Amino acid sequence: MLIVVKFGGTSVGDGPRIRKAAEMIGWLRQQGHQIVVVTSAMSKVTDKLVSLAEKATPEHGGEETWLADSLPLVRKLERDHLEAAEQALYNGQLEGVRNLLKDEIHGLERVLKGSQLLGEMPRMSYDFLVSEGERLCVPILTACLRELGLSAVGLGGDEAGILTDNNFGCARADEERTRQGVRESLLPLLEKGVIPVVAGFYGRSLKGRPAILGRGGSDYSATLIGSALDCDQIWIMTDVDGIHTADPRLLSEAHTVGEISYEVAAEMALLGAKVLHGKCAAPAARRDIPVRIANTFHPERRGTYLSHQSRPGVTALTSVRQAGLILATSREGVSEQFAVRIVEEKRRKNIDVMLRTSGLNGATLMYLVDQLNLNRFLKVLHRLKDPQMKLSIRRDVAVVGVVGEKLEEIPGLMTTIHRCLDEAHAQPLLFVQGASPHSIVMAFPDQEDLLRRVLVGLHRELGLSLQGVGGGTRNLGCDQNSKS
Ligand code: ADP
Ligand code: ASP
Ligand code: MG
Repeated sequence: MLIVVKFGGTSVGDGPRIRKAAEMIGWLRQQGHQIVVVTSAMSKVTDKLVSLAEKATPEHGGEETWLADSLPLVRKLERDHLEAAEQALYNGQLEGVRNLLKDEIHGLERVLKGSQLLGEMPRMSYDFLVSEGERLCVPILTACLRELGLSAVGLGGDEAGILTDNNFGCARADEERTRQGVRESLLPLLEKGVIPVVAGFYGRSLKGRPAILGRGGSDYSATLIGSALDCDQIWIMTDVDGIHTADPRLLSEAHTVGEISYEVAAEMALLGAKVLHGKCAAPAARRDIPVRIANTFHPERRGTYLSHQSRPGVTALTSVRQAGLILATSREGVSEQFAVRIVEEKRRKNIDVMLRTSGLNGATLMYLVDQLNLNRFLKVLHRLKDPQMKLSIRRDVAVVGVVGEKLEEIPGLMTTIHRCLDEAHAQPLLFVQGASPHSIVMAFPDQEDLLRRVLVGLHRELGLSLQGVGGGTRNLGCDQNSKS
């Protein structure tokens, strides 16, 4: 089989973990598989790069001292990666990797110094800077594979042929051009028995410069590459056993879902389940490529498979904190033209809105937006705002999604949800059903206790706690034809 294997941040979180990831690839090669590796940055590295980049922008201070303040952080990143390389590599490869890491760090410093000269951080430089973590990880993982006797070549996401629009910060891939680019770059390597090790998270923009695919974008890199190569499977190796019935860090009773449709997985991601990037299911779905989400630390466990199955039932709960609820109101009614301009701008800038709904007779537009997209979306609204319109923004909002297949066909579902909310003393700020066949969305004031009561109650009462590991969806004990 040809398998694209993507390692997330924790899977390559330090030297020994990078070594383990390489050993897993070695084992897959021994089984006779052809492999393309996609790697994220070591865990937390992208967060540090983002805060470095933000310090350099005028609205975050952008003071004269920021460069001097930033350089120790750069040195620390360098040390951390050198240390990871020393722990991951046991013989001959270390010197070469040290030099590659130094070159990367040098590039990073040049971008920071350039930004200081300009007095700002251009969007292109921002994307270059925050994608550095992936480029720092690739040489270490590639060298590990070589130490294991495998032939491997490291490539940037741009060099691998992922081609995007110019939406720096959150670019979208041009799948057709990417298909051609990836095939040209990677097929000759695969034919020679070489393992390509690709830096996830970014591609090459139309301007020829790296553009990031949005936070968590390495999943998207993997499915873009997998579908371009018509591979047999795409494996997303992460720190949990697959997609769970709720975020396992929030709800200990959550457990792995054996199979889930591409559409429901995408909906979960859009509603904030961090385990997958929102755009990553679509390229694989279009070419019917199975995507497996599995645990790097227990690769023998089956994990979750994305497929085209569609049995009605509740699959999972999602939750996001610190989201924003925006109301755009106009006594005259928000004009159609204004609504259309928002949609166009949102698309142009690849801003993801969890939910949009409109009030009676179009007098209000309501948006639920997660923290990452909120400020970019507000900028658009402020720029387009017509003078008649009032904008009100509530930032401390928690969003809960009930996600599954053909929810409207599940008898008794709404009654059960409302009973749970009553028992949790939870009064939603917003409740939307019917906008999508895959989800029911609620927003609450963002209070930890309240959110927990809602999640625990829904998880139990919707039957999610009862499923065995490897289960699929839950249909509240009613089949498709039964009446409530
Ligand atoms: P990686 O670095 O491997 O890409 P992420 O942190 O992006 O990993 O995603 C994995 C995390 O997603 C898990 O640690 C888990 O806390 C979180 N998560 C949120 N919702 C879910 C869910 N429904 N199923 C599994 N994991 C989830
Ligand atoms: N390193 C990037 C991030 O943290 C991409 C990824 O992990 O998928 O967002
Ligand atoms: Mg991720």
